[in-house]
Amino acid sequence: MNFDPTDEQEQLRDAVRALGRRYGHDYFVAKARAGEHTTELWAEAGRLGYLGVNIPAEYGGGGGGITELAIVCEELAAAGCPLLLLVVSPAIAATVINRHGTEAQRKRFLPGFADGSLKVVFAITEPEAGSNFHRLGTVARRDGDDWLLSGRKCFISGVDEAKYVLVVARTEDATTGRLKPALFVVPADAPGLTRSKLDMEIVSPENQFLLYLDDVRLPADALVGESVDAGLPALFSGLNPERITVAAMGAGTGRYAIERASTYTATRKVWGGRSIGSHQGVSHPLAHAAVQVELARLMIYKAATLYDAGRDLEAGVSANMAKYATGEAAALAVDTAVQVHGGAGMTTEYGVATLLGAVRAGRIAPVSREMILNYVAQHVLNQEKSY
Ligand SMILES: Cc1cc2nc3c(=O)[nH]c(=O)nc-3n(C[C@H](O)[C@H](O)[C@H](O)COP(=O)(O)OP(=O)(O)OC[C@H]3O[C@@H](n4cnc5c(N)ncnc54)[C@H](O)[C@@H]3O)c2cc1C
Repeated sequence: MNFDPTDEQEQLRDAVRALGRRYGHDYFVAKARAGEHTTELWAEAGRLGYLGVNIPAEYGGGGGGITELAIVCEELAAAGCPLLLLVVSPAIAATVINRHGTEAQRKRFLPGFADGSLKVVFAITEPEAGSNFHRLGTVARRDGDDWLLSGRKCFISGVDEAKYVLVVARTEDATTGRLKPALFVVPADAPGLTRSKLDMEIVSPENQFLLYLDDVRLPADALVGESVDAGLPALFSGLNPERITVAAMGAGTGRYAIERASTYTATRKVWGGRSIGSHQGVSHPLAHAAVQVELARLMIYKAATLYDAGRDLEAGVSANMAKYATGEAAALAVDTAVQVHGGAGMTTEYGVATLLGAVRAGRIAPVSREMILNYVAQHVLNQEKSY
């Protein structure tokens, strides 16, 4: 058993932390309030190679794994800049294309992921399907060599910033006639693809959208992989990176909140000479949240280590547990940070209540806490499925 990161991982962590702190939570909130994106931060992180740490070196990336990408997600969030597009673009979309795309697709897309110049977002959720992706209704039909995609997607993050949307659709299986999943790289400005922005109660420069696909015509090579048979394994290949990096983002957010809160409680005095942090009614909830965040971090890096070692099945259990634990720990940390700030906790200035919406959403998306409990009940505890 080894809990020590490598020297390169330590250096990456220090460097990303320094970058994140130069921007900070005030920058993140100002961008969100102005309806703008974190373009400068994303571009600089891309130039420094942090957005492509998990892309193979032969395509211009850092040649690392999901462990390195989790470090980037965690440290930017710990500096107050939780970037959800790190989860959808380099973690999900790049992994799917790297592992299941054709060589031509790897050559075409991976260099852009490597330097951060390319953002590809991910569209699976649908109004009628939700947690149950078996009910997906977005259908891809063949029309000569082309594909025609029709359907609706909801809550799709970052479509306004992305060049492509990785859309999960269904094709008719030629042998059985049953529908099976297939993934398509769809230009965000493709004719027939329209979007409308959802109003979300989350302070974030990243937005969610409803997407409408109305006979969107795509060339044959928009299909990820050599054939539709790549669809199911490609879809599953994105899940562990998604859960691990979103958990890392949550852990970073939890750390950020606890750091803000403990700095405040160590200096705030309202009962003579003692700080409010000297009262255990204040310090214990913070210490409890710190324990929960640190426990979640252990599971994140266990999952990332298993995943990078190619042990996908074991990584699946740990990645789900890490996502669950971090969702709860981050929500607890931010709520506790608000509480120990008193009234100041609800101001924008102290930079903690601004994260309430994001951590609340972290218990629902990208996979809800209930669906993770279902997974653990079935796959770890061997319980019968109820649905
Ligand atoms: C901020 C944000 C960003 C998002 N970004 C993206 C994105 O980029 N791309 C994308 O495709 N999607 C995205 N999503 C969608 C997200 O993945 C879904 O919201 C999530 O998977 C839950 O699906 P649903 O909202 O349809 O809930 P539903 O499936 O309708 O579920 C509602 C509630 O019922 C519970 N439930 C449902 N079935 C069961 C069951 N069998 N057992 C126990 N409980 C159950 C759920 O846990 C949940 O609490 C995003 C969502 C949010 C909030």
